[in-house]
Amino acid sequence: MSVDSDDCLHKSRQMPRLTRQQRTVLEVLQQLAQPISAQSLYKTLRQDHRSIGLATVYRSLEVLKLQGLVQSRINRQGESLYSLVQQDQHYLTCLKCGQSTPLDSCPVKHLERQLQQSASFTIYYHSLEFFGLCQPCALLD
Ligand SMILES: [Zn+2]
Ligand SMILES: [Zn+2]
Repeated sequence: MSVDSDDCLHKSRQMPRLTRQQRTVLEVLQQLAQPISAQSLYKTLRQDHRSIGLATVYRSLEVLKLQGLVQSRINRQGESLYSLVQQDQHYLTCLKCGQSTPLDSCPVKHLERQLQQSASFTIYYHSLEFFGLCQPCALLD
């Protein structure tokens, strides 16, 4: 994922102190290209022989979210998928098969910057997703 050099909204903030578990969760997210559910994250950690409970995974994700390091989006099954805030990624999601296709770029980067500068609100991340039918599903009708 490319990060524009002028896109330093998030980089300017101080890295908060994290617990070992929170750092572990963050490390796994850093290695992934795709957003992941807390359950899958937990399984990945288990396969890696890292002892961390599911409840701790959830708690760590919440803490990381409040610190502006992690973002979440809800998939079609109503499950939260987590990724790093730097991975500013948007999707076209098919309502039929659930396939999500990532967009090449973020269409609201300028808007976020404007809001950040004008409103008395610190923006950590935004979400934007488009829903409809993918071509194979549309052709099935
Ligand atoms: Zn589809
Ligand atoms: Zn974006």
